[in-house]
Amino acid sequence: MRYISTRGEAPPAEAPAAILRGLAPDGGLYCPEGFPALTPERLAAMSKMTYTQRSAEILGLFLNDFTLEELSAACETAYLDFPVPVRAVDDKISVLELWHGPTCAFKDIALQILPELMSLSAKKLSDGRRFHILVATSGDTGKAALEGFKDRAGFSVLVFYPKDGVSNTQKLQMTTQAGENVCVCAVNGSFDDAQTGVKEIFTDAGVNKALAENNIVLSSANSINLGRLLPQVAYYVSAYCDMVGNGTLSAGRKLDITVPTGNFGNILAANYAKMIGLPVGRLICASNSNNVLADFLATGVYDRRRKLRLTSSPSMDILVSSNFERALFHLSGGDAELVRALMSKLSADGIYTAPAALKRAFDGELTGGWCDEKRVSETIKSVWEQDGYLLDPHTAVAAAVARENLTENPMLIVATASPFKFTESVCAALGAEGDTLEALETAAKQTAPGPLRNLGAKAVRFTSVTEKSGMKEWMLDRLVD
Ligand SMILES: *Cc1c(COP(=O)(O)O)cnc(C)c1O
Repeated sequence: MRYISTRGEAPPAEAPAAILRGLAPDGGLYCPEGFPALTPERLAAMSKMTYTQRSAEILGLFLNDFTLEELSAACETAYLDFPVPVRAVDDKISVLELWHGPTCAFKDIALQILPELMSLSAKKLSDGRRFHILVATSGDTGKAALEGFKDRAGFSVLVFYPKDGVSNTQKLQMTTQAGENVCVCAVNGSFDDAQTGVKEIFTDAGVNKALAENNIVLSSANSINLGRLLPQVAYYVSAYCDMVGNGTLSAGRKLDITVPTGNFGNILAANYAKMIGLPVGRLICASNSNNVLADFLATGVYDRRRKLRLTSSPSMDILVSSNFERALFHLSGGDAELVRALMSKLSADGIYTAPAALKRAFDGELTGGWCDEKRVSETIKSVWEQDGYLLDPHTAVAAAVARENLTENPMLIVATASPFKFTESVCAALGAEGDTLEALETAAKQTAPGPLRNLGAKAVRFTSVTEKSGMKEWMLDRLVD
């Protein structure tokens, strides 16, 4: 299977090259040229498999440059201690918990396997360079990338985070990171400053030349990489199998799915699952107060010209959803010229309007909704009191939007983070005394996930802070002589 750029001006690439590149050379995103078929028989056969086997099967449909043995081994390594369970919340709603990985957020699912896929890709292309993974993070991605790439031969990781722009838990998670090939540095500025600084490093000819002389190449692990997107398709298929298995769903019946959305990677994976044949009914895109996507789905107008609101679901505080470009491409029937026009309008004017046919295609595929901060808090409280289920603020956005969009189908809500990662907001919502991990453990009568406990007792390894203007030198000092 070949992968083509959403902007139509780059040659098609095989999967290994697309995974190592991330972004296509024309600035577009790589998309599968066609969608493989998951037949009902194959879906039924998967019900007896483990999560690891299911994910290797699904990856195998898309990544036929890799053998099933290679993919199975990669999935074994990535998902060894990583359950991906579905829990029934009430008789209508189930939750797919994606946060049982090492950093307690759903990005682990992709970032535990991306390093495996990158190593395999480099081997296939006989690319012996060292890959330096450069990340700007608002919290979750940085830690997940550090965990994914730590001590991996042929790779090193550097994470820049905004000094005062991540939660205490997230900061500690990163600054105590183990591994000989990892590095973490705070930037005196906002997430946007860190991200702009990283983008400048990627396009800096001097930096790239200096690295090339040392046999190093910069790479990114952000959510537009195919190697992050495709592994996410598997958990939708797996959840469907589990729900048929536990009797919540009869085989072949449609399942509605609500996804808390930021960069549109998670929900796009659900859309891919539907396109290969998973019986999905409504697919609901849930936004927080940064409701650009909800507005687009209602009106066909994408308008980022608004102030970014900082919410209790920071991983969804996004005005330009990078993976949305792939949805535009697929739902316009692969019209790269149209995608190019819309993307250049977005960067020039901050706004574009979908042509009528594209708007109709979106209407047939996706439902939008959003939830303000007050309702996030009320939802955490009411779901806890009525159903005894503890939601994190991101998942609560989805739960609130899901409740407004119930049909006759069962509903699956995607849970993207452990509530113990956001104890301040969750404690406040519950009206608990205090706002620490221990306070939430007491209020919710449950213990926090292992990786979040005793974070305070771990030694801090990384204390550096740089100005935005110094990011480049900071990196080069540590990489080249
Ligand atoms: C990244 C993230 C999201 C948003 O996912 P996208 O794929 O960017 O839409 C939602 N919740 C949490 C906890 C996240 O870390």
